[in-house]
Amino acid sequence: MSEAAQALGIDVGGTKIESLRVARDGSILSRSRSVTPADDPEATIAAMIEGAKGLLEPQVVAIGVGAAGLVDANSGVLRFAPNLAWRELPIAARMSDALGLPCQVDNDANVAAWGEYRFGAGRGYRHMLLVTVGTGIGGGIVAGRRLFRGAHGFAAEIGHIIVEPDGPLCGCGNRGCLEQVASGQAIGRLGREAAADRPQSLIAELADHDPMHVTGETVTRAAKAGDDVAIRILSQVGGRLGEGIAGLVNVIDPQIVVIGGGVVEAGDLLIRPAEAAFIQAVEGYEHRPAVPLVAAQLGNDAGAVGAAALALEELGS
Ligand SMILES: [Zn+2]
Repeated sequence: MSEAAQALGIDVGGTKIESLRVARDGSILSRSRSVTPADDPEATIAAMIEGAKGLLEPQVVAIGVGAAGLVDANSGVLRFAPNLAWRELPIAARMSDALGLPCQVDNDANVAAWGEYRFGAGRGYRHMLLVTVGTGIGGGIVAGRRLFRGAHGFAAEIGHIIVEPDGPLCGCGNRGCLEQVASGQAIGRLGREAAADRPQSLIAELADHDPMHVTGETVTRAAKAGDDVAIRILSQVGGRLGEGIAGLVNVIDPQIVVIGGGVVEAGDLLIRPAEAAFIQAVEGYEHRPAVPLVAAQLGNDAGAVGAAALALEELGS
C-alpha cells in the first residue's frame, strides 16, 4: 500500500460524531464534527456517512470507526450500547455500501487505546492498558503490540465489572459497576450530595446553588480552586479508580496504564489518589516492576486517529 494512503477515522459516541482524515503517520489532515442523534440509530448512521463524505479525498482507502458499546469486530455490527438505544446496528456494512470503501468497526475505547499506543502516551511500549474515564469507563488492551479484542471484539469492557454489590444502578442494568463509582458520573453524584449538604460550599456556588446542576466538571473546577470538599471527592473517586486498575493490572500485567477521557482534566487531583490506591491494592507491589499511571496525550482525537490507523493496518495485512 502506498505511503500516501490515508484513512478516515470516525469516533461515534452518545453526544458527538468526530470524523478525521488521517495520514499513515497519524497526522490529522482535516476534520468535521456533528451532534449524535443518539435516540435514532438510523439517523446516527446517516450523520456518520454525511460527515465521512465531506472529508473524502482520492488518497483515502479505508474507513475506521470506533463506537461506544459492544462491537462485533468481525462483522462490524454494534451489538449493544449500555447507555444508548443502539442494538444490532450493522455499521460496517452501511458505511461500506454508502462510501465504497472497506470499513473496520471497533469499540471506542479499543480504538482510543490503539491511537495512544501508536501515536500517544503508549508509544514504545509493548503491553499497555488504556482506561478512559468520562461519563462512563471504557478500556482497551494492547498485548504484545496487538490490540486484544477477545473472541468477538468485546474484551476490555472494564467499566461493567461489579465492584459494589447493591451500589448505584448502571446503564447496563446491573448495580455497582466500576463506572458507577469511579467515573465522571460518580464525581457528579457525590458533588450533588455535597452541594445539598453544604449550601455555602464552592461546589454549590459554582452551580448557582442548585445541587441538581452540579456535574463532574463543577467538582473539578472547585477542586482546582482549592475547595477541600471537592478535593476529597476527587480523591475518593480516584481511589476507587486505582483499586479497579490494580485488579486489571493483576489480570493483564501491562507495562504502563494510560488514563484518558474527560476526567483527565482533573489531572493530579485524581491521578495521584488513583496511584496511591493502586500501589496499596496491586498484588506484591514491591516485588514487581513499577507500572506508571500516566495521562493520555491525544485527548478527544485518540479514538478517531486509532480507528483510522487500524483501518489502514487491516488493509496492509
Ligand atoms: Zn454496568
